Amino acid sequence: MGFVGKSIRLVLNTIPRSVLQRVAGWAVPILGLFYSGKSRRCPICHSEKRKFLPYGYGTVREDALCPNCLSLERHRLLWFYLMNNDATRETIKKQPTTLHIAPEVCLMREFRKIYASKPQNYITADLCSPLADMHFDVQDIPLEDNSVDIVICNHILEHVESDSKALSELYRIMRPGGFGVMLAPVDYSRETTFEDDSITDPKQRAEIFGQYDHRRIYGKDYLNRLSAAGFEAEEIDYAAQFTDYVRTLYSFGCDHLYIVRKG
Ligand SMILES: [Zn+2]
Repeated sequence: MGFVGKSIRLVLNTIPRSVLQRVAGWAVPILGLFYSGKSRRCPICHSEKRKFLPYGYGTVREDALCPNCLSLERHRLLWFYLMNNDATRETIKKQPTTLHIAPEVCLMREFRKIYASKPQNYITADLCSPLADMHFDVQDIPLEDNSVDIVICNHILEHVESDSKALSELYRIMRPGGFGVMLAPVDYSRETTFEDDSITDPKQRAEIFGQYDHRRIYGKDYLNRLSAAGFEAEEIDYAAQFTDYVRTLYSFGCDHLYIVRKG
């Protein structure tokens, strides 16, 4: 790992997340000035760089963070999918009611641009972030049945106490014909999800689950959990559909996409 990677890991592990969120918007782009070039391209903000920045709390991943919009591999992969898949792109363009839970800033910015003429249809929600429009626990969503056309809920379910409760809430509020994006970290070497509610100490959780605020490690059965809530769930190894050149150009990583639909 290089000097920049080590420094970024140190910063991520020592400075509180709330402070990082405030300074990252200007500090990271300054770092990006040292990465000018054309061998990487961000499909979200369309900036071109020599490389993306290294990023990670534990293991630092090279070529991960866009210095312009702060997107990570999975954000670029997802946005590329949403904008290149005819059905999702055309649906989003119509600005239907969309709920974005714990919104990633890089994606939120793009949604706001698209929803310029119907900004009220793009709703952000978080447990406590002051940036969000609504504040609630995803296990108890204060929205009416069948009221949302698109749900974006990435990297949430591994944090909540009962993911089945959260999923049944997400299913309840989705309008028939709607779709959702529910990415999560999945360990593909595991057949089944590992969870143990007796582990509550943050340090122990970090050791066992890989992050202090994770409650489970999803295995290959993650898709089944989405289906069990009633969704038609699809797992897409989207990055695998591209050549090495394209995968590297956008630095897509290798996360799978999880798309759910309510029939
Ligand atoms: Zn970007």
